[in-house]
Amino acid sequence: ERLVSGDSTYEEQEIEFSLRPQNLTQYIGQDKVKHNLQIFIEAAKLRHEALDHVLLYGPPGLGKTTLAAIIANEMGVNLRTTSGPAIERPGDLAAVLTALEPGDVLFIDEIHRLHRSVEEVLYSAMEDFCLDIVIGKGPTAKSVRVDLPPFTLVGATTRAGMLSAPLRDRFGVLCRLEYYEEYDLANIVERTADVFTIGIEQEATIEIARRSRGTPRIANRLLRRVRDFAQVRGDGTITNEITRTALELLQVDKRGLDHIDHKLLRGIIERFRGGPVGLETIAASIGEEAHTIEDVYEPYLLQIGFLQRTPRGRVVTHLVYEHFQIEVPEK
Ligand code: ATP
Repeated sequence: ERLVSGDSTYEEQEIEFSLRPQNLTQYIGQDKVKHNLQIFIEAAKLRHEALDHVLLYGPPGLGKTTLAAIIANEMGVNLRTTSGPAIERPGDLAAVLTALEPGDVLFIDEIHRLHRSVEEVLYSAMEDFCLDIVIGKGPTAKSVRVDLPPFTLVGATTRAGMLSAPLRDRFGVLCRLEYYEEYDLANIVERTADVFTIGIEQEATIEIARRSRGTPRIANRLLRRVRDFAQVRGDGTITNEITRTALELLQVDKRGLDHIDHKLLRGIIERFRGGPVGLETIAASIGEEAHTIEDVYEPYLLQIGFLQRTPRGRVVTHLVYEHFQIEVPEK
């Protein structure tokens, strides 16, 4: 497992659960999203209605699941959680929907991975709060209409572009989560340290924030690893010095890049004079799958302006040469 991956590991899930902020005030950053949600939640509560359906989208680890739980909490309703791949047949969806109580929040993670047949059943559920289910097969098949309680669907996806238009159009509230600013991440680290009752220097919170790739999940993970060093090598307090040493040993550099990012960027510089070079060529040269580079490694490098996509292929920017302290080659 990559230390700087935005995805969660199985072991991490319980710890993450205990770290989840419970309400919008505790939820750090994402001010635009928070502000909008606050108004929509308040208005729905005033009208005694279920909140409109909400789509949360953005890279993994930015707090979509956390936000879904907060929405349910702020609305004072139950949260039911499932995921796109877990709902295999329309009947599975019907079972989940008919068990909801009025106003409940149904959270569907990875909603872009819903089966088409399930998705079609979801349309009428979202729009009219009813299900049209076909029972039986052939000439004896009949359609049964089942009324549902009003509910709020909160869908989460890392790939808004992969959602079909009819599904996307049925969400009244669209929230795009952005990578976090260093300042917000430092606050998240401070809050987590508080929950764990660990002493941490303010500079250390900033150092961890800077290396967390704009992602709270990574910030909390790095904090836990640095804590190990502080306990074994120090007196338990996380100082800036211990933080730097630990993260260097863990091979997470000043911008949060690890050995895989280095291999990718240095590969383009050393073998292709910085590009442009095609994705497939890069993939073959460093022994990785093209789609892994595209889906997993590239997004953050593009985000921080280290890599650019051009019609002729990928190009590393001058920021990479500065980062590695090497001279830009003459073309
Ligand atoms: P995935 O898409 O992989 O499910 P996610 O976007 O749903 O990820 P979460 O599981 O909600 O991410 O968040 C990951 C961790 O980061 C959680 O432990 C959560 O407590 C913490 N976290 C996320 N956003 C915030 C925030 N704004 N303030 C404080 N902690 C946060």
